[in-house]
Amino acid sequence: MQHTDLMEGRADGNVVEPFDVLIVGAGFAGMYMLHLARRLGLSAVVLETASGVGGTWFWNRYPGARCDVESMQYSYSFSEELQQEWHWTERYASQPEILAYANHVARKLDLLRDIEFNTRVIRAAFQEEDCRWSVSTDRGTQYRAKWCVMATGCLSATQTPNIPGLDTFKGGTYHTGNWPHEGVTLSGQNVGVIGTGSSGIQVVPELAKQAKHLYVFQRTPNFSIPARNRPMDPEYEDSWKTNYAERRALARSMPAGILSQFGDKSALAVSPEERLQEYERRWAAGGTSFLAAYPDLLKSAEANETAAEFVREKIRHVVQNPTLAEQLVPVDHPIGAKRICADTQYFETFNRENVTLVDLRANPIREISPEGITAGSDFYDLDSLVLATGFDAITGALSKIDIVGRQGLTLKEKWRDGPNTYLGLMSSGFPNLFIVTGPGSPSVLTNVIVAIEDNGRWIADCLAHLVEADAEYIEATASAEETWMDQVREAAEGTLYTQAKSWYLGVNIPGKPAVFMPYVGGVPTYQKICDEVAAAGYRGFSIGTRLKRTGRNMEAQRC
Ligand code: NAP
Repeated sequence: MQHTDLMEGRADGNVVEPFDVLIVGAGFAGMYMLHLARRLGLSAVVLETASGVGGTWFWNRYPGARCDVESMQYSYSFSEELQQEWHWTERYASQPEILAYANHVARKLDLLRDIEFNTRVIRAAFQEEDCRWSVSTDRGTQYRAKWCVMATGCLSATQTPNIPGLDTFKGGTYHTGNWPHEGVTLSGQNVGVIGTGSSGIQVVPELAKQAKHLYVFQRTPNFSIPARNRPMDPEYEDSWKTNYAERRALARSMPAGILSQFGDKSALAVSPEERLQEYERRWAAGGTSFLAAYPDLLKSAEANETAAEFVREKIRHVVQNPTLAEQLVPVDHPIGAKRICADTQYFETFNRENVTLVDLRANPIREISPEGITAGSDFYDLDSLVLATGFDAITGALSKIDIVGRQGLTLKEKWRDGPNTYLGLMSSGFPNLFIVTGPGSPSVLTNVIVAIEDNGRWIADCLAHLVEADAEYIEATASAEETWMDQVREAAEGTLYTQAKSWYLGVNIPGKPAVFMPYVGGVPTYQKICDEVAAAGYRGFSIGTRLKRTGRNMEAQRC
């Protein structure tokens, strides 16, 4: 890609030639969007903060980082060649292997030449005069593009808690979501881990093996199912590779876009013995499809309690000290209402002599000092501190960028009371700005690569339509957006998801409005709606050749 100082009559800055499509983020979404844009013959560039591809898998390098969707499914499906040639070595892929896969894809599709690494987008402003986005980076470069695609990821903006004295701690402090690339040696150290979500549950067993003593600071216990990770069974791999197209299609017909065995009866319609047998079978099989046992587990509190109590009993069985076991048992939310975790020996780790659970519900953290943490009246002397404290999910990466739409409206202002989008794909007031796996789409409730591919294909088809129609402009209408957000809300209200203080609701971030962000209607329903909208000539979108000034306002001049 060529940088020039003399573009469009501007000689005063580092302005880059205009692109058809500017993509923010080089994770799986950004990489796929670049591939699709090229296939349409559009000029495209990707801007990426990191020094490599992979998105969340570039940053989350903590020991034990692993995907909780089976590796045969957590990969691109758009290329038969890719899915045939890549060999996953384990049932659930580790972070290094997923990152190696991302790099393999980037090389194979020759993506790297159009990705600008080490480049953080700080501002994106829509210029009404010519329907172009002007995008500024921390390197002082300015880009211009007709269409902007935010492929910024749902779990990419890390959340560091505001604990008094955190910045005074003199040992190493490491966030799981931004783990040092050179690795960290914690052997022989007293290590504290704050947080027991998916990241904490994965990192704790690994750190316990290294640390002299590991202190796990737990505010809320979580439900976790054993992953039962194991080396890839060649026959299993073969069965997938022989039937990939069929299995991918079947996966897409399932709510999370993940091929699972779904029960079809209510958990309450079977005898307690049959239910127990089913939960035991799924517990032994391992993985998050435990929740697929009965279709009402996330709808009926009574049904949910049967699964929750089963898992609580398992924790009580695994953890030898009964008082400790009770501290690890989740009681404040329905199972699955927070993202369920998959672990390898998490609860077993608390039977080790070098591991101590610090129950923050009984003894909240008072402060962090240079030497360690004071929780309740106890002081914990620490050499290193690991923050497994999560993310400003779904909207965090977008709100870090100063996104300015029509009439100076910022996305931050518009989303002050919660994000509003049409289909998760666009937000009214922000023409020509697409979002991949945005709020109001199934995103984090799915195998996210399925969600990325579905959104990516829809956006690419839409761009092809705009090119064909010689259109310069597309914007979600306010009324379509309002109707969609009602649907998103109604779908969530019919479930138990709203009964947990989760990052799905944004309540892990101080001041963030409590709004359930993903669309829980499932992949097939969502995709059907998106396809129907497109087939109806992009119903709910305003498409035009250009913007026309009417009084003080700009309006789309329809094609
Ligand atoms: P998370 O689920 O939001 O968990 C954050 C943890 O930090 C919670 O236990 C939270 O406690 C605790 N915490 C936050 N602030 C705290 C404070 N001030 N004091 C004490 N504790 C505090 O974040 P995560 O574990 O990084 O996971 C986020 C998501 O990333 C997952 O749900 C999953 O979707 C994805 N992920 C997936 C995998 C995988 O594929 N296996 C692995 C890692 C992450 P409270 O619950 O009390 O707020």
